[in-house]
Amino acid sequence: MADSDESIDKSFQTLKQTIPLLLKHKISAIPTNYALWYTYATGQCNELNAELDKMIENDRPLSSARAQELHRNYLSDQQEVSTWQLRQSLEAMLVELTQSLTDTRSDTHSFKNTMDICLTDLEKVEREGWSVEEVMTLVREMVRETQQIKRSTLDFTASLASAEKEIDQLRRQLAESQKDALYDGLTGLYNRRVLDEDIAAMEAEQGVCLIMIDIDHFKSINDQYGHQMGDRVLKAIAKRIKDTCRDNAVPYRFGGEEFSVLMTASKLSQAIHQAESMRRTMEKVSVIDRRTGKTLNGITASFGVAEYKKDMRKSDLLEQADKLLYEAKRLGRNRVMPMQN
Ligand code: GH3
Ligand code: MG
Ligand code: MG
Repeated sequence: MADSDESIDKSFQTLKQTIPLLLKHKISAIPTNYALWYTYATGQCNELNAELDKMIENDRPLSSARAQELHRNYLSDQQEVSTWQLRQSLEAMLVELTQSLTDTRSDTHSFKNTMDICLTDLEKVEREGWSVEEVMTLVREMVRETQQIKRSTLDFTASLASAEKEIDQLRRQLAESQKDALYDGLTGLYNRRVLDEDIAAMEAEQGVCLIMIDIDHFKSINDQYGHQMGDRVLKAIAKRIKDTCRDNAVPYRFGGEEFSVLMTASKLSQAIHQAESMRRTMEKVSVIDRRTGKTLNGITASFGVAEYKKDMRKSDLLEQADKLLYEAKRLGRNRVMPMQN
């Protein structure tokens, strides 16, 4: 019986070689087989190794009858695989397996419970003098449980990591698409779709007005200064519009060089006032052309202002404001055209 640290260590090493051998050659870990392959791993019995090597070479499965015969011929009188050796090496293996599972971030409680039970059983091995057969039942249980938990832990960790990545990507995509769905990319104002939704959802009894805004001769700004400069003008105007809007007025980029402001809890007179103040502030917008250093100012816009009436359909509000806007254009631009009460 081995009793030095060296032999404990050696038996553990042998055990670590034996399990892979069983797995590699698809041999069940019944006591007879374990003892044969344990002895094979130690290299202490040349005849046995020769027999097993022959079997490996010929790729022949080891039948249980043949295994028993080998066991009888080479091992039955030997005490190579003592219970005590097994206990020591199993304990060492447990420590290592537990450590490797900790490394894979396993927090599986059931595994820990099973291993606790196995440890308790291991104590019994010595106390109650378990047979090799009983110890092997424990080994099989531990190996099976460990392989299963290791597999599932690795799978779980891998799938968790990829799920985390996927969720993160989806979250970002969703945020992006939500942004795209609501906001205009150039000006940061709400887009036309939101205006349509807001009009559909408005509580008309409380007084709703819509202002439609169209920059005057914007095409010539583009033509004269280039599209990029045109974009900067649109941004500057959008900012001005936004700055003049109080809580009850929401600005939108309707499209192109057109903007809208939807006002709630407001009378027509308040909307006219709002439009006038936007018209005046727009006149003050000036944008410097970076290429030439020249200042672009004198930008004007035309305004149509409509108030929602009881007999109107919600969609009429937009149509009315649009008509009034074109009336403002027709009358010479840079003006506010309100609905006639
Ligand atoms: P009006 O006073 O009659 O409104 O004249 P206008 O030139 O403003 O109107 P028109 O509809 O003829 O031209 C609008 C121009 O706005 C044409 C288009 O190229 C330009 N535009 C639309 N969207 C953008 C944009 O996002 N950036 C830039 N730079 N230009 C745009
Ligand atoms: Mg236009
Ligand atoms: Mg225009």
